[in-house]
Amino acid sequence: MVRGVVYLVGAGPGAADLLSLRALRALQAADVIVWDNLLPGDFLCQLGLDGAGRTVRKLRSGETRTSHEKILRFMAEHARSGRTVARLKTGDPHVFGRSAEEVEFLKEAGVPWEVIPGMTAATAVPTTAGLPLTWRGEGRSFAAFTGRLAGGDETRSLPRADTLVAFMSVSVLGSLVERLMEEGHEPTTPAALVERGEMPWERRVLGELQQMPRLARQHGISSPALLVVGQAAEPRGGLRNGPIVLFTGLDPTRFRRLGRLLHWPALRVQPTGTSPHAVVAAIEELREPETDWLVLTSPTGAESFFRALRAAGRDARAVAGCRVATAGRGTAAVALRCGIAPDLVPAEAGSAGLLAELPARCDRLVVVQGQQAGPRLQEGLERRAESLERLALHTVAPHEELGRPLPQHDVIYFTSGSGVRAYLQVYGAQAFQAEVWCIGEPTLRAIREAGFDGKVVTPYGQEGQDAPSQALGRPETAGP
Ligand code: SAH
Repeated sequence: MVRGVVYLVGAGPGAADLLSLRALRALQAADVIVWDNLLPGDFLCQLGLDGAGRTVRKLRSGETRTSHEKILRFMAEHARSGRTVARLKTGDPHVFGRSAEEVEFLKEAGVPWEVIPGMTAATAVPTTAGLPLTWRGEGRSFAAFTGRLAGGDETRSLPRADTLVAFMSVSVLGSLVERLMEEGHEPTTPAALVERGEMPWERRVLGELQQMPRLARQHGISSPALLVVGQAAEPRGGLRNGPIVLFTGLDPTRFRRLGRLLHWPALRVQPTGTSPHAVVAAIEELREPETDWLVLTSPTGAESFFRALRAAGRDARAVAGCRVATAGRGTAAVALRCGIAPDLVPAEAGSAGLLAELPARCDRLVVVQGQQAGPRLQEGLERRAESLERLALHTVAPHEELGRPLPQHDVIYFTSGSGVRAYLQVYGAQAFQAEVWCIGEPTLRAIREAGFDGKVVTPYGQEGQDAPSQALGRPETAGP
């Protein structure tokens, strides 16, 4: 008999790399994943969990309130038919997550269940924003509570602790702050609001308790956000030092060394609709392991390429007949994850490195590029190959959420010319007021074409380039 199960899985605050291994394994084993829209839209994709024969049900905003029973029945039915169901929840399932009710339901329904803890926003969000909840001497306790009182019960007193963390408080901020002051908190107590902590579009607003409702209105802070009150909200140095960097690329994981990153993606990736069979047909032309090359020019392109192979029912063996080059370490990491150890990862990232290090004579080349890629690489490679096929499997468009008020930052970081143009289109010169850094020369050219200047700073501090710690030319500052 096949035994199904429902896992109630804590996802952490929203960054895919803050998920626990136990949670990841449960998700990998799942036939059905149910998750809500508080988590970033590409959360499963970042974990390589999209598609692959799974049923994925994304709940609409408020659906857990209106159709809670229906969702539970859906999960129980799948588990009863022997499937593994993962219900993904933000933070920890048992912190304001209604999981206790869900466990009751599953128990009564006779369905096996397991709760997998997650990093609650209560600790993860202040910690990564550089606000320590406790510290030796003064900060000896903290308490988390919900700002929205169930059933409008305004009489309940608020918890007492050196540091307070309020969930779901944006809509009631004015009355909550008044209550806190009535209960003895000084109006000048340090306070912070962290909106979408550890997710794209994170913002942090610091000030005094009494100023918080006004600051929240001024900055247009909306849910999900946490209010932190107490000396903890006095900046004491972040999780990591260095400048506040507004990172506009797609995946910040490899760039954390640059400083304290706020991820504000310039672009959204869309598939071009190229058929997976066309991809396989192009690869099948590559049959000479010495002289034929597959060239992967970006992590996103590499992801799209391997996704197309899987969609066509193929795997890494499809590229057994050729050599593989990747434009940089990030692209190489994607290839490795998909079972291919690249034959060439040039020392210099990007087109310049590929042009410098690919052999002067090749037979056949297949180059996987984004649709917007400039002609430079293709022109440089055309001269040295008998035949060259370009596969454009993805395209990018300005992110639909661009336009939010820019948060305070020391540096803005670009990873592509398209990203520069998207920011220019939406924010104009305002986006280029702080230091401008970028990943390589082609992006620097796009910054200059837009009429601004910048510098190339890589997260690895390659030879001849500024390491992030020297690039600002001034001492590193502390505080969020
Ligand atoms: N189970 C979750 C909480 C769910 S309730 C946990 O343990 O974190 C939803 C509330 O959590 C939001 O209204 C907001 O107050 C808070 N929250 C969740 N994720 C957040 C994030 N990434 N940044 C800021 N607040 C967050």
